[in-house]
Amino acid sequence: MYVYIGIGSNLGDRLANINSAIEELKNNPAIRIEKISSIIETAPVGGPSQGNYLNGVIKIKTEISAKKLLCTLQNIEKKLGRMRAIKDGPRTIDLDILLYGDKIIDEPGLQVPHPKMFEREFVMNPLLEIEPDILKQIKK
Ligand code: ATP
Ligand code: CA
Ligand code: CA
Repeated sequence: MYVYIGIGSNLGDRLANINSAIEELKNNPAIRIEKISSIIETAPVGGPSQGNYLNGVIKIKTEISAKKLLCTLQNIEKKLGRMRAIKDGPRTIDLDILLYGDKIIDEPGLQVPHPKMFEREFVMNPLLEIEPDILKQIKK
């Protein structure tokens, strides 16, 4: 399965946080990294006043279930010191499942495609950079 993961950070050494998260994905034998977008600086959208983000999108290949992958991503967030203090507040690292193949998932705690991805430039710009035809592919 090809899976697209959104990655973001706006606390601490943002680039180091993003690189550490990518390293964790690389070290997982059940995950193969296929593509990594440019890492772009973006202004925060919503939430309290906070610093700019670095954002990017990663394409991986994996057969881990979407639920288990979410768990894997949350464990990486925890390991890198993410706290969930304020909704939409600053974070050391955020890893979201954007697309999981062409699956549509709507469960408590997991919606795929990520419900807000299409309206977010900080997601769509890096996604379209690495996969220019993605919108055609998912509107089958
Ligand atoms: P946003 O959803 O607006 O990007 P966020 O990333 O800041 O918000 P978090 O606090 O990181 O939100 O996550 C809140 C919950 O979102 C998680 O506990 C998770 O269960 C749920 N969630 C639902 N769908 C997804 C998804 N596709 N990827 C990651 N988390 C998801
Ligand atoms: Ca997010
Ligand atoms: Ca998240």
